[in-house]
Amino acid sequence: MELKKISNRIYYLPAEEETDRPVIGYIKGDKYSLAIDAGNSSKHVEKFYCELNNAGLKLPDYTVITHWHWDHTFGMHSVVGKTIAGHLTNNKLKEVATWQWSDDDMKSRLETGKDIEMCDKCIKLEYSNRQDIKVASADIEFSGSLKIDLGGIYCEITEIEAPHSEDSVLIYVPEEKVMFIGDADCEDHYDNNGQYDKDKLGCFIELIKEIDFNTYVLGHDKPETKEEAISYLMEELKTLS
Ligand SMILES: [Zn+2]
Repeated sequence: MELKKISNRIYYLPAEEETDRPVIGYIKGDKYSLAIDAGNSSKHVEKFYCELNNAGLKLPDYTVITHWHWDHTFGMHSVVGKTIAGHLTNNKLKEVATWQWSDDDMKSRLETGKDIEMCDKCIKLEYSNRQDIKVASADIEFSGSLKIDLGGIYCEITEIEAPHSEDSVLIYVPEEKVMFIGDADCEDHYDNNGQYDKDKLGCFIELIKEIDFNTYVLGHDKPETKEEAISYLMEELKTLS
């Protein structure tokens, strides 16, 4: 089984590098369960649900999105239950839903900088037939923050300022001291040439220092401890002039 267990209530499906599939998280409440991110395609969602079935876990009632990038959202149209996104994410998803996927359309987005090489390459690998790409916006949109009581456990979902993307959303589970951050602490590949913005990174480090968590679940890597996450980001911050 590929599904990993963080605690009796928290699991995740690890990332897959080949087509840039991100981590999908799972929080099990007594009443509701909630997934973090929808993955990059129906096939990715199917794989996640199959793993949940094998583990005897019910399919999610809610799926929260960490940011608009394709690898975290193109599975949204095929999830069960309701999808939730911050207002900036949802606005961007509505724009991406109008994109066409022919070779020419994709090439012109690369030329205008609307999309980037890495995503272009991985989308072509994930989708042998790009007619299958369906971009959906979320059922539930919020601004600021949202608290969901899942029964015996709750999660706080908050729009934050982060170096990776303007629309970053953080999912924090206080009872378990676990935080899902998507790609929030990574460089910005769309608007800042794959570089860190020093101020945004500095603010992000200060923000997470204030939060009481032990497990830091990344979008494309293994979970880290709070100390590991902060020391890595402090090193990155030092290299920026
Ligand atoms: Zn991203």
